[in-house]
Amino acid sequence: MLEPVLTIVVPCYNEEEALPYTLQQLDELLQRMKQGGSVSRESRVLYVDDGSRDGTWPIIYQASLQNPSIKGLKLSKNAGHQNALLAGLFSAKGVSDCMISIDADLQDDIEVIPDFIEEYLGGCDIVYGVRKNRDKDTLFKRKTAEWFYSLMAKLGVSMIYNHADFRLMSKRAVHELERFEEANMFLRGVVPLIGFKTAKVYYDRKERVAGTTKYPLKKMVSFALDGITSFSITPIRMVLLVGLLSFFGSLASGIYFFILKLFGQTESGWTSLITSIWLLGGLQLIAMGLIGEYIGKIYKETKRRPKYIIDFNPFMAAAGKRDLTDSLPHMELPDMREKG
Ligand code: UDP
Ligand code: MG
Repeated sequence: MLEPVLTIVVPCYNEEEALPYTLQQLDELLQRMKQGGSVSRESRVLYVDDGSRDGTWPIIYQASLQNPSIKGLKLSKNAGHQNALLAGLFSAKGVSDCMISIDADLQDDIEVIPDFIEEYLGGCDIVYGVRKNRDKDTLFKRKTAEWFYSLMAKLGVSMIYNHADFRLMSKRAVHELERFEEANMFLRGVVPLIGFKTAKVYYDRKERVAGTTKYPLKKMVSFALDGITSFSITPIRMVLLVGLLSFFGSLASGIYFFILKLFGQTESGWTSLITSIWLLGGLQLIAMGLIGEYIGKIYKETKRRPKYIIDFNPFMAAAGKRDLTDSLPHMELPDMREKG
């Protein structure tokens, strides 16, 4: 069997601090693998600049000029981690046999990448990188992550425990992924739906090499909420259940108080009245908010907007007329842009 062409896809958002180290580490690994004959000499690392505001793109572009196995894909604006990943995978699909996605901060152990390839050669279409431990994460991050996984499991979404977006996908798995046309793509939930033969590779999670997390609390909460509402209708069912319970509960107590009244024992319950009004009001608002969340999802899906827009695609440019190597790195590359 011929060695597979591997593309390592790295989404980057304001990663200028981590990138020099990442570029060097991944390049070393790739060269080692090429020499060892486990991947084809055409293999490459594809850095996806997700609309960074710092020096990320110039760093990537400069590196791609100096090293033919480094490629840079530039998105027109910030599209979010998941979409940046998709942009990378879908663009690399045509020129690779398999793709591995990894975060730019190298928190995931790149030394297990050869094991991914081994599993791939053994016939697996999807290989999940799974964390052995999380003791390098902050206690808060660890707890919230734990809580999130168990909540998702309870809501009936099958996700791989302690697996983030460090995984290998074969060309055909990515091809099938592309057929999931949902606008709210939650990769950790969708990938297990693809099927095929899969494997898990375990590794130790490290600390970020440099820079700070691009997932502040606000983004984390919205990511979790997205994950839940795009995969499960259990929350909306719970709302219905609570509504039914409170309806029948109040019906029963109404009858009870009515009977008391008939026997002349009138309750002067202003407190209970006002509490129940606020309680019910709150419940109703929660319920409406939840339903709104789903309607928002439907709204987004119906518009079918593109998930990302590519500003510069190295694979298209390579196939085009102009030689890239003569141009200097700068943010605007007008005549090399991919249309739409
Ligand atoms: N990222 C991205 N777009 C975003 C946010 C993050 O491409 O809008 C990238 C980021 O550069 C990194 C990866 O997604 O490569 C994961 O982000 P981070 O390491 O900050 O998340 P954490 O590990 O803290 O969950
Ligand atoms: Mg990280």
